[in-house]
Amino acid sequence: MSKYQVLLYYIYVPMEDPEAFAKEHLAFCQSLNLKGRILVANEGINGTLSGLTEDTQAYMDAMHADDRFKDIFFKIDPADHQAFKKMFVRPRPELVSLKLEDDINPLELTGDYLSPKEFKEAILDDDTIVIDARNDYEYDLGHFRGAVRPDIRNFRELPQWIRDNKEKFMDKRVVTYCTGGIRCEKFSGWLVREGFKDVGQLHGGIATYGHDPEVKGELWDGTMYVFDERISVPINQVDPVIVGKDWFDGTPCERYVNCGNPECNRQILCSEENETRYVRGCSHDCRVHPRNRYIPENDLAIDEWQERIEALGEDFPIDILMQHS
Ligand SMILES: [Zn+2]
Repeated sequence: MSKYQVLLYYIYVPMEDPEAFAKEHLAFCQSLNLKGRILVANEGINGTLSGLTEDTQAYMDAMHADDRFKDIFFKIDPADHQAFKKMFVRPRPELVSLKLEDDINPLELTGDYLSPKEFKEAILDDDTIVIDARNDYEYDLGHFRGAVRPDIRNFRELPQWIRDNKEKFMDKRVVTYCTGGIRCEKFSGWLVREGFKDVGQLHGGIATYGHDPEVKGELWDGTMYVFDERISVPINQVDPVIVGKDWFDGTPCERYVNCGNPECNRQILCSEENETRYVRGCSHDCRVHPRNRYIPENDLAIDEWQERIEALGEDFPIDILMQHS
């Protein structure tokens, strides 16, 4: 048995006074030495936590003893250490944000729940469209084979993207998936409201699919992006492959860094070698951005910075040279 565990869970359930709850719940989590992030809203709770196995067990037992939370399904990953540095419990207006004019309550409207086995069958069915409900950088590290990749950097851009591409999906059966299932509860409900006739969602998300003893993560390519210090976890236990591609040269890669330009901060896959070569900038503008974090972090002298940019056949801006001369 591993020493630590990482938990992922959510439940849509009416909650009174999220602020008071958040305060109390933080103290409770700290008493168990848990680390992680929990969001609380009037519509429910969503969290990911790490801690010693016995502490995470105590947490799950306490949650299940609460009538509101008795039906929570916890996804559990073994771990060698804490997956987070701090513990946050934050009140929020909503658990996931689709920025809808008229919000969806998944308790009233959501797509059909598909078990991992049913979802696998859906992937193999030619008349079904599988839409990834996550962000582009999550998709790029790993996804279900053949799934549609919405061209979005944030979940709230998804409805507009669907509207722009509607005619491609309208007459088909549409199924969606996300990390733990919470985003799809709302997104699939929204699809139903938009007029899609046959909408399904992977119940419990990719995390559940990866643990299912029958499907064993099959038809998942790459690894799954997670929002903690592990960055990614394996899913496919049958025939795993790498699908991540280096931002700069397209070679297989599963190493994420944030673009060095703090105003961009885009997550890019890149090797250590290319990070060095491109001073961690996703574009020329980011490479020569005066606040590029790579430069101070690596104690790079101004003339070395200039050399690397010119080695790429790009011009180094005169104003940065002036500032440092
Ligand atoms: Zn950038």
